[in-house]
Amino acid sequence: MDLAIRCSHYIDPVTFELQRDVILLIEKGRIAETIIGGEVSGGLTGLAKETLNYEAALLAPGFVNAHCHLDLSHLARQLPTGLSFTEWIDCIIEGRKVPAQQVSAAIEAACDELLASGTTSVIDVSVDGASYTPLQRRGISGAVCLEALGIDGSKADAAMERVDAVVRQIEGEAEKFYATGATHGSPLRIGFSPHAPYSTSGELYQHMFGRAVGEGRVLTTHVAETLDEQQFFRIAQGPIRDFYERRKIALAGFTGYDQSPITEILWEWFAPWLSVEQANSRLVLVHCNYPQGPDLDHLARFKPSIVYCPRSHAYFGHEEYPLADLLKTGANLCLGTDSLASNDSLSMLDELRAAREAHPALDAATLFKMATINGRKALDIAPDTADLVALGIPQGAQDATLLNSILNARAPIYAVIQRGRIAARAV
Ligand SMILES: [Zn+2]
Repeated sequence: MDLAIRCSHYIDPVTFELQRDVILLIEKGRIAETIIGGEVSGGLTGLAKETLNYEAALLAPGFVNAHCHLDLSHLARQLPTGLSFTEWIDCIIEGRKVPAQQVSAAIEAACDELLASGTTSVIDVSVDGASYTPLQRRGISGAVCLEALGIDGSKADAAMERVDAVVRQIEGEAEKFYATGATHGSPLRIGFSPHAPYSTSGELYQHMFGRAVGEGRVLTTHVAETLDEQQFFRIAQGPIRDFYERRKIALAGFTGYDQSPITEILWEWFAPWLSVEQANSRLVLVHCNYPQGPDLDHLARFKPSIVYCPRSHAYFGHEEYPLADLLKTGANLCLGTDSLASNDSLSMLDELRAAREAHPALDAATLFKMATINGRKALDIAPDTADLVALGIPQGAQDATLLNSILNARAPIYAVIQRGRIAARAV
């Protein structure tokens, strides 16, 4: 075996049940054996090449940050609070006009923060794929989803060609990197991200989704983020129209779809590629803050992944997140941090605390699932993958309320395991 870990508490990544006194045996990036409650004579000696032994730690699936924009990390603590959504977008557009070196230095620091806070996988939205190599070097898996936008449908092919050039370049390099055997298990993949229904044509959405399905890629998009988006998408009016006029961006005849964006995307644009028998977890809808009309029915029919970003949600002062309604649809609810331009850290434990504060009635296990194994489903990461985080257990914590105690106590991270390899270790 490559690694043996002994810990007082363990969350099984398949059942999500809490087990006591566990020894985990890991080989070739997979959990090969789980010994529960048993004393192994001689302890961990001789069980594996490397060992970790924790008297009071919870070993849990590694965190999956299902929505971030690492290429906005240089804007951390730069933007004021209280901006309207379109004012914030103006700041982002201006904020991207900085030297590439500044952006890449901030991405490197953000990747360090991800790893140190126990995140083993991400779904990162990226304009040009600049996060790919920094994530890959740290062994963080998941998908870097290349972003494209443009409300003029006649320009969809050109937008896709730009994305394709980036895909070819990154995947060519990646092939060389993984051929060296530098890291275990499945690599970081490329996905697609049409930006949002108020900025991206139906043609480009369909182009990207058709390709994503055909090539087995993750597709992620922002949707139903604001009421302004609802208004603009339906009737082409309101603050988003003003935004286009202010920035002198042509609307190319856009007059609205007379429909909510979630329904339009799922029912009109994507339905031919979606399965009704199985969940469509690889389609990752970000936010869904304002479902309207038949949206919840379509979410229940197609069961995509949905990403809730609690601290970004609070930053924009949105109405209460419809978490209970979305959970009822059976969709795969995940948790993400969004970017440092609307959040103050990339820690999923911080995000979990914010989620619990916003939804005190929800049990902590549901929230932890959203932050871990649900994200794995979106990324097709096998349940027995040895992506793990060891969290210190506060003194006096009871099993029945263990997850809450860990959140209350700001539990320290003892170790991060990626594909069976100790990637970071504090204790
Ligand atoms: Zn976002």
